[in-house]
Amino acid sequence: MGVLGGTFDPIHYGHLRPALDIQQQLNLTRIHFIPCYQPVHRGTPQASSAQRAQMVKLALADYPQCVFDSTELDRQGPSYMVDTLRTLKRAFPQAGLVLIMGMDAFAKFMHWHQWQTILTLANIAVMHRPGELMPQEGALAGLLTQHHVTHLSKPAGQIIEVAVTQLDLSATQIRDLIQFNKPIDQLVPKAVQDFIETNRLYQKG
Ligand code: ATP
Repeated sequence: MGVLGGTFDPIHYGHLRPALDIQQQLNLTRIHFIPCYQPVHRGTPQASSAQRAQMVKLALADYPQCVFDSTELDRQGPSYMVDTLRTLKRAFPQAGLVLIMGMDAFAKFMHWHQWQTILTLANIAVMHRPGELMPQEGALAGLLTQHHVTHLSKPAGQIIEVAVTQLDLSATQIRDLIQFNKPIDQLVPKAVQDFIETNRLYQKG
């Protein structure tokens, strides 16, 4: 099963479309979308945990192969992925875990808490993201050489690159558009857009 962690402040098609591509290409039973409670390497999200969770649920309503997962919100505290993967392993002992992340996230992977342990618990699928390249040199490039595969064949420890639909889209851009009263149609599912409007999220002042 796939595991996609994120701030989801808000969730957008740049999460959904590539995740669905990965689900199909890697033939994953389902993908768990896991909003973080307290991001470790960035500031506090603008929307509350409950609002971010609700937006993820609304976005996933039409995609039965994608499920909302409250593991990090329930645990509270800093959202270390290694802890989340341990919890999922206990809950789904038979499932092979595939941790999905964009190239920008992978670029910082060796700064993640207990990243070596993460590789013992899961495989990693790196999604191409506009403007981002895979590391060509340094420690991360070395790690990639060691673990890179073109086919996942083991339950953990492998890293695969997946060419997904390229959507030049980020939650930051969406928050900025809203601040400047610009439309966000087609960038997030309609139900998420309605939720943002009703709750006046991300507006100036
Ligand atoms: P922000 O702009 O607030 O930093 P974000 O749009 O990058 O947010 P996150 O919730 O931080 O969204 O991302 C969760 C995961 O989804 C990360 O692994 C990130 O790399 C990936 N991701 C986000 N947007 C895209 C995209 N357009 N294409 C591919 N991967 C993406």
